[in-house]
Amino acid sequence: MNFVPELKHDEKDIRQTPYWFLFQNERLLIHENGPAVSIPCMPDPLLVDLSILHRRHIGQIDGHSCYSAALAEGASPPEGMRFEALRKLFSCLDEPLAVAAGRAAQLLRWDQTNQYCGRCKTPTRRHPTELARICPQCNLIVYPRISPAVIVAVIRGDEILLVRTRRHAPGRFSVVSGFVEPGETLEQCVEREVMEETGIAVKDLCYFGSQAWPFPDSLMLGFTASYAGGEVMADGSEILEAGWFSAGNLPLLPEPVTISRRLVDWFAGRKPA
Ligand SMILES: [Zn+2]
Repeated sequence: MNFVPELKHDEKDIRQTPYWFLFQNERLLIHENGPAVSIPCMPDPLLVDLSILHRRHIGQIDGHSCYSAALAEGASPPEGMRFEALRKLFSCLDEPLAVAAGRAAQLLRWDQTNQYCGRCKTPTRRHPTELARICPQCNLIVYPRISPAVIVAVIRGDEILLVRTRRHAPGRFSVVSGFVEPGETLEQCVEREVMEETGIAVKDLCYFGSQAWPFPDSLMLGFTASYAGGEVMADGSEILEAGWFSAGNLPLLPEPVTISRRLVDWFAGRKPA
């Protein structure tokens, strides 16, 4: 199973019934199959009396077209289905479906919040060839917003730097992360965030990997780095606790679906230098 994000579908590639990522107030419509969760797969939502807005082809999964759309605010879920917050579903869906659902949520939110030109207030239209909206009056083009954020595993000997923030569930630790500011390189952002949040200087940055994170519109860019100096000191506002942890003594960690967890798993599984 593999999700391919694409704007237009190529008819010859589409052989299967489409998947529908249908949202109502940021909550996704799913089938209830006991503990298992599945995405509605049907020729058309109208067949189950669901009328939709902002329909968009967002890609395909193994020959199944994937569509995002909004349901009216008062619409009730058909029998056997319910609405659920995407964040809750992210770790229970197969990865290609979770990625498609994330793209669906982001594009739908962007379509819904850019119906009018921010410069001249004229209703916007979809751009005919690009993933963009365009104002027919002043030609302003609006692309979907993506907010880059860095996330970094800082290593000192056989220990990793972990922090507990206000955003995380009680008791859960993670690696340092933060949003990139205008005019900043990724390297500068890593150095600034680690210093601001923990008082630690870093060196030897190395790119690790990335993850689209649609809560609401982030792209997480993962790095590893080495300790270069300083004493750990939580900033006391965003960061409640910070410290060094060895692989044999790790605290409660983020879910396996997150790049944060992949960074900690990389640390825990790496061979000694
Ligand atoms: Zn305009």
